[in-house]
Amino acid sequence: MQDAVIITGSAAGLGKALSHTLSSKGYDVIGIDKNGDEDILADLSTSEGRQFAINKALDICPNPRAVVANAGLSPIHEDPFAILEVNWLGVKELLDAFLPSLANNPNGCAVAISSIGAAVGGDESLINSLLTGDMVNARSTLTKFADTSHLEAGIIAYSSCKVAVAKYVRNNAKLWGDSGVRLNCVAPGRMETAMLDGLLSHVDIAPGIEALPTGITKSAPASQIADVVTFFLEPDSLFVHGQVLYVDGGSESLLRPEIF
Ligand code: NAD
Repeated sequence: MQDAVIITGSAAGLGKALSHTLSSKGYDVIGIDKNGDEDILADLSTSEGRQFAINKALDICPNPRAVVANAGLSPIHEDPFAILEVNWLGVKELLDAFLPSLANNPNGCAVAISSIGAAVGGDESLINSLLTGDMVNARSTLTKFADTSHLEAGIIAYSSCKVAVAKYVRNNAKLWGDSGVRLNCVAPGRMETAMLDGLLSHVDIAPGIEALPTGITKSAPASQIADVVTFFLEPDSLFVHGQVLYVDGGSESLLRPEIF
């Protein structure tokens, strides 16, 4: 296969919607997920699973045109440490590994999926450990939160990973740009998927989600966020690089209007 778009977390939610949008536009898509009937079945929560996914994707398509690092676990996932693996290493390791192949494609580009959770917070020390690659320290920082509350640890792990993903995109604008590969980030707000359903049905989490301010609409179907990701993958956005775009009905803007 030539020129495919590789999408992680393609079996459900945003990944599935994006797969559908891109396929209907004529792109070849390689889906990676631990569930479903995807091209590559791999568990991105393990180092072996991530390496398998990378090798297999490049076997299928040595010169991909794009990668979308989308797979993510919810903040209420039962294992907060797995959130670090999927939501951070599952993004960083895959993007790092695919860069040389993307650089061989004249249209090479990538999108990482962050979250409105990045605008809400995260733990500074955990974020720094993630960004500097010190996973031992990252896990030990998270252990301190998990000793008190697994739920709190999951929320902190999630937000910290989403900040790290956005910062990865900003920090790599030079390296990726020098390789001729555009790298951008989409940070959804309330997106109508199984992940949001789970959050809204959690008695301790739902009030916080409901309290999130929105400027226009409260939530959007995954297909709308997929359309924005598609924009970042297509020639219409050739001059857009190193950006983090919140697609959230205005939540981020209302939360922190002074930042742009
Ligand atoms: P979802 O739970 O509906 O789908 C996530 C997909 O990722 C699933 O197909 C799942 O099987 C896959 N996945 C999870 N763990 C995996 C693993 N270990 N290995 C391989 N695949 C794995 O989620 P979604 O709502 O579509 O979320 C997509 C992205 O958007 C995530 O990064 C999420 O953090 C982010 N996001 C979602 C929302 C929201 O409101 N839904 C808001 C902000 C950001």
